[in-house]
Amino acid sequence: MTAPGGRPDPLVERMRPYRSSIFAEMSAAAVRTGAINLGQGFPDSDPPAVVVDAAVEALRSGHHQYPPGAGIPELRHAVARHQLRRYGLEVDPEDGVQITMGASEALAAAVLAFCGPGDEVVVLEPYFDLYAAVVALAGATLRTVTLRPPGYTVDPDELRAAVGPRTRLVVVNTPHNPTGHVATLSELEVLAEVCCDRDVLVVTDEVYEHLTFDDHRHVPLASLPGMFERTVTISSAGKTCSATGWKVGWASGPAELVQSVRAVKQHLTYSGGTPFQHAIAAVLDDVEEVVADLRAALEHQRDLLCDGLESIGLEVFRPDGTYFVTADVAPLGAEDGLTFCRELPERAGVAAIPTQVFYADPDDGRTLVRFACCKRPEVLGDAVERLRVAFR
Ligand code: PMP
Ligand code: GLN
Repeated sequence: MTAPGGRPDPLVERMRPYRSSIFAEMSAAAVRTGAINLGQGFPDSDPPAVVVDAAVEALRSGHHQYPPGAGIPELRHAVARHQLRRYGLEVDPEDGVQITMGASEALAAAVLAFCGPGDEVVVLEPYFDLYAAVVALAGATLRTVTLRPPGYTVDPDELRAAVGPRTRLVVVNTPHNPTGHVATLSELEVLAEVCCDRDVLVVTDEVYEHLTFDDHRHVPLASLPGMFERTVTISSAGKTCSATGWKVGWASGPAELVQSVRAVKQHLTYSGGTPFQHAIAAVLDDVEEVVADLRAALEHQRDLLCDGLESIGLEVFRPDGTYFVTADVAPLGAEDGLTFCRELPERAGVAAIPTQVFYADPDDGRTLVRFACCKRPEVLGDAVERLRVAFR
């Protein structure tokens, strides 16, 4: 294969399908056109004051040099207390918790630690785009189990068909990006049954664990019988503390698995983000209090955006949690979500993410579009009005 200009393509072949991320493309389009960015998921208001104050305090207390490779002990212990207090999961703060540069690094290190050529990795689709890229980086093969609207629940038969003798790892994301679905106990039971039955490793992505709405509550897959010993549980402070740029994440679970993640992680970044690790360590014991207002605000914003999108004719799949609302734009006459999203900044002054890019077969989500609701109410109101005018 050749790059533009006829020269050999310097990018390794297995990464060529992942050359550009949809988040970069749509955020750049938003900046270029001055559109309201409901694409990439990040809040447009500051973290709670207690979180910012903790970082300022850490910066003023001399925490500027490399942290230990495993992460600072204060944060590892705080993560262990969090897992025990909220979920009854007992992890060793020394060997069973690894601090990472966001959940992204934890996910990459886990996939690279466990998978290689010939291995299959099963993910629920639509999937967060990083999964496919790191599976490719590992030289492993991606298999998908499709979640379908309106409920976006796991189909037990599809799951059983996908997890086979070559499956090394199953990646489960709940609360789920991009659909906002929070796995129910019965779905988790099916996942646990299949993973135990086929004796596979499991990585869970729980970065939205604190951002659930109504009476939905997050339950870690690792808390089901037979699951702890095969599961690496991943989360991060980005969403919980409204500080997505801080990139403080963690992996926890049985020592043997976490040590493997650590072995790879140390060769990716070794370690970093010392003051932010201290800040999160200072607030994690009180995280429910820290996140309460944020969650209530987000639930209200979810309703505003869902009602607004419905009022202009979109079919909306109301999320149980996360930053995101998925809607079908076919009622607006759109036949392809990617084309729709590429035109949207110019046409309406709004940016969004075409969900089709998160499916192995784009036809499974051809006209679905993801809108971020983690923006101030007036911004969401403005975005809905812009869409109303554009599609009148
Ligand atoms: N997993 C999911 C499902 C996400 O939406 C994101 C985006 N923040 C990440 C992982 C990455 O998390 P972090 O920013 O902590 O690397
Ligand atoms: N998790 C965020 C999203 O899904 C950000 C993704 C990213 O920047 N890679 O929008």
